[in-house]
Amino acid sequence: MTNEPVPVIALVIPVFNEQAGIRQHLHQIHQQAASGEVACQLKLVVVDDGSTDGTAAELQRLEEEMDALQVIHFTRNFGKEAAISAGLAAVAESADAVILLDSDLQHPPSLIPRMVQLWQAGAQVVEAYKTSRGDESKATKMFARIFYGLFHRLAGLRLEGQSDYKLLDRQVVNTYLACPERHKFFRGLIQWMAYPTARLPFEVPPRQAGQSQWNRLKLLRYALYNITAFSSLPLALIFWMGLFSLLIGCLVGAIALYQKIQGLSLTGFTTVILLVIFFGGLIMLSLGIVGHYLARIYDEIKGRPGYIIRTPRKSQTRKASEIR
Ligand code: UDP
Ligand code: MG
Repeated sequence: MTNEPVPVIALVIPVFNEQAGIRQHLHQIHQQAASGEVACQLKLVVVDDGSTDGTAAELQRLEEEMDALQVIHFTRNFGKEAAISAGLAAVAESADAVILLDSDLQHPPSLIPRMVQLWQAGAQVVEAYKTSRGDESKATKMFARIFYGLFHRLAGLRLEGQSDYKLLDRQVVNTYLACPERHKFFRGLIQWMAYPTARLPFEVPPRQAGQSQWNRLKLLRYALYNITAFSSLPLALIFWMGLFSLLIGCLVGAIALYQKIQGLSLTGFTTVILLVIFFGGLIMLSLGIVGHYLARIYDEIKGRPGYIIRTPRKSQTRKASEIR
């Protein structure tokens, strides 16, 4: 009999206001993850992303009951991407592979044993991709399609069908954590790294309890943020728009001059109004795009931590490693 150490697999689960189902869901995730034939040591790391309902208290109780569970609490809601980073940072040293999944069972935990097998067969990333988008509204599905189309054209990465449900080898986790930007786009960055990847299809089941934390505005901001994080093409487009409008301006100017010399000039008031509105709009749009990139640079350069971990009061000194 060989005495090989079993791999440590950490499940990282971001959680925000999931009081209604968190207890049952965590038990279910743990049970299904452990049901595979592959021998491994399981760890569950739940990141409480500043929940304002009873989630934090419930998680504290669960932490005492479940040996494999570790809970990290944020001081406030920093967003799912920050929770992912905090979870990965917490397990980077101890886990051989990390699996990221949602707490609402929309990422079926029954896939976990298969993911681990694919990892053991050599894949450094195992991504579960959606064959259907579940019970989302038509508008949300269309929004997603536009976002993925734009993302592909502007950033050159195909994210269609992708989810945050992924297994990452320890090396991938370390590369991810070494990326210095504070605002990260998990799905985009993992694909951009292009480690050997295995894919596993799944259908998104309906949410099991509570409700999605995303509204349209939040989604739109998220989409804009991520597109501009991966592409500076909108800035280049301003140059081409400027060049194009300069050419049009030259043409219209030449015609106006010709008509003036010929004594044919009309009272072109409407033309003037239209030109002012058109070019005014174009200039404001261009300024907006430049402003957006400037704001992003400002956000990054401030260097504030992407999240802050709330530690129990007994340890008054906060370790530097807890702020990232
Ligand atoms: N979540 C989070 N922080 C947030 C919003 C959501 O940690 O600000 C968690 C949430 O608790 C869930 C996962 O991220 O475990 C996915 O969220 P949700 O189900 O709302 O997203 P959807 O499935 O609609 O994409
Ligand atoms: Mg969900």
